[in-house]
Amino acid sequence: FDDRDGFIWWDGKLIPWRDAKIHVLSHGLHYASAVFEGERAYGGNIFKLQAHTERLINSGKILGFDIPFTADEINKASYEVMAANNLTDAYVRPIAWRGTEQLAVSAQHTKIHLAIASWNWPNFFGADRLKGVTLQIAEWRRPHPLTAPTASKAAGLYMIGTLSKHAAEANGFTDALMLTWNGYLGESTGANMFLVIDGKLHTPIPDCFLDGITRRTVMALAKTRGIEVIERHIPPEDLALAQEVFLAGTAAEVTPVRQINHHHFTPGKITETLLHDYEALVLMTPEDVAKRAA
Ligand code: PMP
Repeated sequence: FDDRDGFIWWDGKLIPWRDAKIHVLSHGLHYASAVFEGERAYGGNIFKLQAHTERLINSGKILGFDIPFTADEINKASYEVMAANNLTDAYVRPIAWRGTEQLAVSAQHTKIHLAIASWNWPNFFGADRLKGVTLQIAEWRRPHPLTAPTASKAAGLYMIGTLSKHAAEANGFTDALMLTWNGYLGESTGANMFLVIDGKLHTPIPDCFLDGITRRTVMALAKTRGIEVIERHIPPEDLALAQEVFLAGTAAEVTPVRQINHHHFTPGKITETLLHDYEALVLMTPEDVAKRAA
């Protein structure tokens, strides 16, 4: 992924893609003192950019560091890096990490760096996603919020996701579904989940994993449609009650799920409606947004 043309924004400057390298003794690498975001631009517009930037800044604060750029500077840089790479429909990946000044658990005086990259990335489950993806319930669970800073989009927490996704893939599943520390349904390795039970939308309470920006968007879209949304701790046995299941995340967008372990689902009307409503919302041009607001 490092050997290609293009530019990456790094601490205030655009540098060639191939030169965007960090030293091997970076604190972020050894101790996972890094936070990141995943954003998507549609037609040149980064969807919910302000919310992502605020979450990035807050993720850093939760790990005890201040990113040395304002939200406005980060927003501007995100568009700069897209322009430098001639992108309008793209994924945007900011990452902040502790540098090389100290290499020990205590790292109060390390410099905080910020880089932003952007590249073309169609829906990460691919064109076939509309048929529905398959999930395997993972052995590893989301940690208790007093055990890890679960509200931060912290690089270290993704160790659980990588382990779980590799195990799921080894068994022929698309992705893993991670349970919460106490055994309720949680999230996939990169998206939140929704169940349709008798016409109502049920979604786990995000008290030990990310309260996704897409999750909140989908909940708002459902309410606009008059679909009742219930947030609750959902035991895995309720999968037997669900007619439809789908995932929601920036990279995943709205993706139907057709199987979780031995439970099978048929992507249905509510999933389709919300999938199309989400597409209509993100694909809206700035002119459309202005018209709506007027
Ligand atoms: N959970 C995890 C583990 C994720 O990586 C993501 C993607 N950021 C989400 C949920 C969904 O969050 P969002 O809708 O803000 O992209």
